[in-house]
Amino acid sequence: MERQYQICTRCIMDTTDPEIQFDENGVCSHCRKYDERAKKELHLDEAGQQKLNRIINEIKEKGKNKEYDCLMGVSGGVDSTFALFKAREFGLRPLAIHLDNGWNTELSVKNIEMLVKKLNVNLFTYVLDWEEFRDLHLSFLKSSIANSEIPTDHAITAILFRMAAEKGIQYIISGSNIVTEAIMPSSWVYDATDWKPIKNIHKTFGKIKLKSFPKLNIFELAYVIFVKRIKYISLLNYFPYNKKEAIQVLQKELGWKYYGGKHYESIYTRFLQGYILPRKYNIDKRKAHFSTLICSGQMTRKEALEEMKRDIYPPTIMQEDKGYVIKKLGLTEEEFEKIMSQPIKTFRDYPNNSFFFNKFSFLVKLAKKKATYN
Ligand SMILES: [Zn+2]
Repeated sequence: MERQYQICTRCIMDTTDPEIQFDENGVCSHCRKYDERAKKELHLDEAGQQKLNRIINEIKEKGKNKEYDCLMGVSGGVDSTFALFKAREFGLRPLAIHLDNGWNTELSVKNIEMLVKKLNVNLFTYVLDWEEFRDLHLSFLKSSIANSEIPTDHAITAILFRMAAEKGIQYIISGSNIVTEAIMPSSWVYDATDWKPIKNIHKTFGKIKLKSFPKLNIFELAYVIFVKRIKYISLLNYFPYNKKEAIQVLQKELGWKYYGGKHYESIYTRFLQGYILPRKYNIDKRKAHFSTLICSGQMTRKEALEEMKRDIYPPTIMQEDKGYVIKKLGLTEEEFEKIMSQPIKTFRDYPNNSFFFNKFSFLVKLAKKKATYN
């Protein structure tokens, strides 16, 4: 039976997430989870500041006499850019790492170049082999699971961990954070750390063997966490991080330019979020982004509902992007429309490690605890 439509009374998440639940006041499970995570993972009090000082000192100490004391992934977006800006303010010496998967906008490339120059940081750009990546990307589109960005997300994690291990750097500082990103239904995405579904989806739909694609299987992951003791630090959780203010600071201090939407620094990402997800999967990620901002007090519910009335994708850019994406992926219009009309699948339809992750959840928790400063 079709579930009756319901929207949260506090945020704007609704039953387009099939797993959402509501309490007697109509407040949703995402709001509850947000509060729990904020309490645990945000460190804004006195003790949190002391912890941050300890972490910064530890990174500097361990990085003495090394060229870099930490690694940082930069996408060119607000969160990772602001994290890099703050890391420099704290006196850290990061090597910035950028993944070029072929979809960057010109603006994002300019933003990154300017940013590393102004902050006096070295940049390493990892360029994916386009033919291989294109084929993998097509495999994901053909698999009909919603999150076709999993290969990109997996690659950046793999590159960061591998490089950290290679260079003997123990710290990866990330821009991922609670106050702008905490809410994202697991039915809309799947943890990109798991190599198994990527491998299997490509085995089913791919044509080219993956030779150089950066991967991290479960054993390699265990190795970098337990043997190399590499840690992830979500720096933005250690001070009051406000997105609007951050944008102003970046514009003023670094000449950074805004893209007009979350993750819009990549042409494919904005096409996925603005076209494929809403049309094929009935997923509008703005709901999750705005809901997070509501929970963190950076937006009102009324403002979010107003914003939602606006076009998710300005029609002229949409048409342009659509033609560009189809051509770059080497598809014909008909082939693309066929992909769009295929029945929706989830990662559960493909071999994955979720059984292992659930059965050995204590190990996963331990690994997460080992790998993060919370
Ligand atoms: Zn809610």
